[in-house]
Amino acid sequence: MSDTTGFELRLGHLYPDQLNMYGDRGNIITLRQRCAWRGVALRYAPVDIGQKLDPKAFDLLFIGGGQDKEQDEVARDLRVVKAGALREAVEDDTPALAVCGGYQLLARFYRPAEGPELEGVGVFDAWTIHKGKSVPRCIGNIAISWNDSTLVGFENHGGRTYLGQGARPLGRVLYGHGNNSEDHLEGCVYRNTIGTYIHGSLLPKNPHLADYLIRLALERRYGIGAGDAVIPLDDKEEWRAHTSMLRRLGVAQRALA
Ligand code: GLN
Repeated sequence: MSDTTGFELRLGHLYPDQLNMYGDRGNIITLRQRCAWRGVALRYAPVDIGQKLDPKAFDLLFIGGGQDKEQDEVARDLRVVKAGALREAVEDDTPALAVCGGYQLLARFYRPAEGPELEGVGVFDAWTIHKGKSVPRCIGNIAISWNDSTLVGFENHGGRTYLGQGARPLGRVLYGHGNNSEDHLEGCVYRNTIGTYIHGSLLPKNPHLADYLIRLALERRYGIGAGDAVIPLDDKEEWRAHTSMLRRLGVAQRALA
């Protein structure tokens, strides 16, 4: 019996109806199941357009990816309804995962191919510029270095994200485009908030990242040690999927060296 039996974590899913591309819901399913296998109850709640966000209500936050049109609607709601509370939750070290369009809107701004520039929440010192519909999108499999390991997945974005002077990338690109196909950086990290272009969904093939978020959330809610009580799982299948992707992309040796 794991020491985490009986714990609970509250997960807030921002804009599930607008930002839900490329199976991003798989991240929620992965977090729920990896908590359940340890006796931790994951209490899920959508936080929709127009709904106020209570910055103290959640132990984990997730925001997925979306088309420019949906991002326009979400950017307005963030500006008017949720941005202040979201920044408060981030500054209070709430672990959060923002994928693609959600990542772009947690930065300073997103300039889409058409239409007005979208103001971001300003969590990440970064900005995104779409190079126009005639410029090929960043599409395909991706592998990056992360915490002496690797992360794998799929990316599909037209926007190119650039990090500010002090911004910390999630990792270095080993295969694929990453933030902008130029500086070989992918994603951005600020406090316990992770932004990334990696869809897939991200967490099923990257169990170490899923557990990293779960540990952060447990420690923040139940104190130091709660994270250490998280027992390892039998992730043979997950790592078989992960390493076969690395092999397929020809980055296995370089990545694991
Ligand atoms: N619409 C944004 C772009 O094209 C984000 C795409 C996404 O979330 N997959 O860059």
